Amino acid sequence: MQELLERKKGLRRSILIVDDDYIAREILGKMLKDQYEVSYAENGVVALDIIKRDKLKLSLVILDLHMPELDGYSLLKLLRSDNELRRIPVIVLTSEKGAEVESLKIGAADFITKPFDMPQVICARVGRSIELAEDSVIIHETERDELTGLFHKEFFFQYGKRLDELNNNMPMDAVVIDINRFHVVNELYGRSYGNLVLKKIGESLHELVSETGGLACRRDNDQFCVYLPHSDELKLKLPQYIAVIDKRINDSNISLRFGVYSDDGSEQCMEHRFDYARLACQKLRNSYVSCFDFYNDEQHSKELYAERLINDMDKALSEKQFKVYYQPKYSIRGDRPQLFSAEALIRWFHPEFGMISPGQFISLFEENGLIQKLDQFVWNEAAVQIKLWKDIYGIHIPVSVNVSRVDMFNAHLADILENIAKQNGLDNTMLLLEITETAYTDDSDQIIEAVKKLRKCGFRIEMDDFGSGYSSLNMLTSLPIDALKLDMKFIRGICESEKNERLVGIMIDIARLLEVPVIAEGVETKEQMELLKKLGCDIIQGYYFSKPLPPEEFGALVEKELKETNYAYN
Ligand code: C2E
Ligand code: CA
Ligand code: CA
Repeated sequence: MQELLERKKGLRRSILIVDDDYIAREILGKMLKDQYEVSYAENGVVALDIIKRDKLKLSLVILDLHMPELDGYSLLKLLRSDNELRRIPVIVLTSEKGAEVESLKIGAADFITKPFDMPQVICARVGRSIELAEDSVIIHETERDELTGLFHKEFFFQYGKRLDELNNNMPMDAVVIDINRFHVVNELYGRSYGNLVLKKIGESLHELVSETGGLACRRDNDQFCVYLPHSDELKLKLPQYIAVIDKRINDSNISLRFGVYSDDGSEQCMEHRFDYARLACQKLRNSYVSCFDFYNDEQHSKELYAERLINDMDKALSEKQFKVYYQPKYSIRGDRPQLFSAEALIRWFHPEFGMISPGQFISLFEENGLIQKLDQFVWNEAAVQIKLWKDIYGIHIPVSVNVSRVDMFNAHLADILENIAKQNGLDNTMLLLEITETAYTDDSDQIIEAVKKLRKCGFRIEMDDFGSGYSSLNMLTSLPIDALKLDMKFIRGICESEKNERLVGIMIDIARLLEVPVIAEGVETKEQMELLKKLGCDIIQGYYFSKPLPPEEFGALVEKELKETNYAYN
């Protein structure tokens, strides 16, 4: 580039005249040699040797079309298809009109007709061709990445947008390519090896876009973008493209990941298409084989929503957007059902999304540990509430709280719960802990140890969602629990088939064997309630009695039950 700029400043350029006609060579040479360094070749083969040798210093080739050995057409084609020689402009010498068009088509910069025009005309044509070519090299070099020859990011997006405009926003697919652990490749094998890999990817992408149309760029250090005319078959074609690139790199230690946004007709702009493709690419983990994934709109909205909930959680806690609801549990052992206890269930009143049920955020918060903070908030609220009801109604109403499996790995769990009880002047037996069965089966040893510790402190444990996990009978008999809570799905079908009824019967028998009470939740009808009573179930929770209620409404329920002396616990 430096060299080119200097030449532009006034150095003498070199020209090669290729013609088998000695006289023609001499005439042209005479016309040009005052201004240019001129060399000569009498046929295509000799010319090619000189061009290869002097490729850096040659500014122009003047080429006769009809020559023995290698003719002008063939030489021109050869030069145009060679990456390094392509930049040298060629002016064609011809005496036939038709040949002019033909040679311009295969890439000649201009033509000079025989017999020759006035020298000034020829000098002007030569000068203009050289200048145009040099300008285009300068432009080419600033818009392209030196190593791979692909566009720089800015030009890529500029040309891409122009392509969209010219093609009337024809559907285009966006592909983002990343090299897995590229820094490791650089560290282990050296930068020059890393550069070689980048170069090979560049070559493959050049080839790809010259076959399919479109544009390619090197976006960042090890990231590439390809903008392709949309294909419905991209999912099928991509593995082939990937195989070609892998083969060219030919190193099993190097793998690529491809994120794709396939045009779905939603008329996204080019930048958005690449944002989405990048998201798809980022989600692919470092894998040891090259792989790809397509951006999916629905999945993306879900992820955005989830991310929003995670971001909003802290603020929601401090702004009291979370409310604890209470659902009553009734004992059905006696003649008539009696209020026995309650389960604390969290609700989120989000300023934008309205009421969000825990099903939407509990597992999300379990994934990142946020659940611990939320659960502690609920335990505390529940303890405060038990104390408040005691103050108002003079009775203790035990409350079950949900304890996530994540909490079970907190070494301070027992201390935290004890502290909460103590601060509210409560006996530890007032807070019942619901732990889902699957937690026991996933990490049994650790969970069992944690549960033993909690029970030692006086907390009572209810195994939640019993029947949804895979506890073996053998394991169950050694489990430290105080109640079994049947999974709701068994209650749902209990009146529909005898088989379901028998299944619930068996689970109640297991509880008998373990000598613990049975709780059935999700009980919605009188029929279900009566059947459960017949089967020997002890406690019922469900819409049949009440939905989960805000504390004030739960208070009103307590008041009513007290009046009717329907309260089982003192
Ligand atoms: P879960 O512990 O099994 O709670 C029972 C769920 O069943 C609650 O859903 C309750 O509202 C619902 N339910 C109660 N009676 C009926 C009924 O008769 N019919 C039907 N169809 N459903 C009934 P909710 O409140 O949406 O909670 C869903 C799950 O979220 C809970 O299932 C629990 O696993 C979790 N969860 C709720 N609050 C907390 C919390 O504070 N901490 C933790 N870690 N998890 C919680
Ligand atoms: Ca529960
Ligand atoms: Ca449950």
